[in-house]
Amino acid sequence: VSSRGCHKIRSSQIRELLDSKLNVLFDCDGVIWNGETVVAGAPEVVTLLKQQGKKVFFITNNCTRPRASYVTKFIRLGFTDVAEEEIFSSAYCSAAYLRDVAKLQGKVYVIGCQGVVKELRDAGVPIVEEDTDAPTGTIYDYPLDPDVKAVLVGYDEKFDFIKLAKACCYLQNTECLFLATDPDPWHPLRGGRITPGSGSLTAAVETASSRKAMVIGKPSCFMFECIASQFNLDPGQSLMVGDRLETDILFGANCGLDTMLTLTGVSTLEEAQGYKDSDDPERKDFVPDYVVETIADFILAYEE
Ligand code: PLP
Ligand code: CA
Repeated sequence: VSSRGCHKIRSSQIRELLDSKLNVLFDCDGVIWNGETVVAGAPEVVTLLKQQGKKVFFITNNCTRPRASYVTKFIRLGFTDVAEEEIFSSAYCSAAYLRDVAKLQGKVYVIGCQGVVKELRDAGVPIVEEDTDAPTGTIYDYPLDPDVKAVLVGYDEKFDFIKLAKACCYLQNTECLFLATDPDPWHPLRGGRITPGSGSLTAAVETASSRKAMVIGKPSCFMFECIASQFNLDPGQSLMVGDRLETDILFGANCGLDTMLTLTGVSTLEEAQGYKDSDDPERKDFVPDYVVETIADFILAYEE
């Protein structure tokens, strides 16, 4: 494997690269949209790639929405040709893992939100129902469900001490699986604010339980295996486009895909260059093969 280049590429080189691939995998936030704002030109890029006969997939670590709600979001932002089957979220893949790989015989204790709960229900994976009229006493007032065989941690705006306490009690049983939807530390919001990501909540559960979670989302290869098992993808024919070096680009490297950093999101060219110049061999997997300003540059590539 040649060392990753971090090459800033423009129209003719983008065209050459795309012509050599059958599949294009896009991360969502920071690539396709930023929150509720579409990246200019992204809908045209998706249509163009499909017209060129490419298979296009959307891979997001955001576990807050079920797949159907992503379809609605794509339509709202001006995309006309994105199908539910092309969308792979960390919530959907977590449910697929528990059903198809772990073949869980028991219930899941979920720290998460509606996206995770809906995907688990759709997959037929039983979950512990939240007690709505929970007592406000001590930890002893919260019952534990003896059927719990997995703890799944995702993004949860209602994360609290009792959830943390329950999760670490379940995890005392070494047979109980410990999964995390994604390792993301934080996400950019509007006005320069940030929100803590699932990774920060998982870290709390890891500390309290003295265990390590298995990550389902990027950079874990499970998401690629999930797509590949349904669409029979060859990694060598696939390009991963993302905005975060520590998740998207590492994911591509872990799965044997060519990688492209787009500068419309979290990571910068300087950070990529910093990883490239580092002496630590482990950091080389954070270096993208290619860099573009925005995926809208793909449009020019096909015009010339
Ligand atoms: N998780 C949450 C809760 C988010 O808000 C976001 C981004 O907005 C993500 C994950 C990252 O999503 P993606 O993998 O599409 O960049
Ligand atoms: Ca992203």
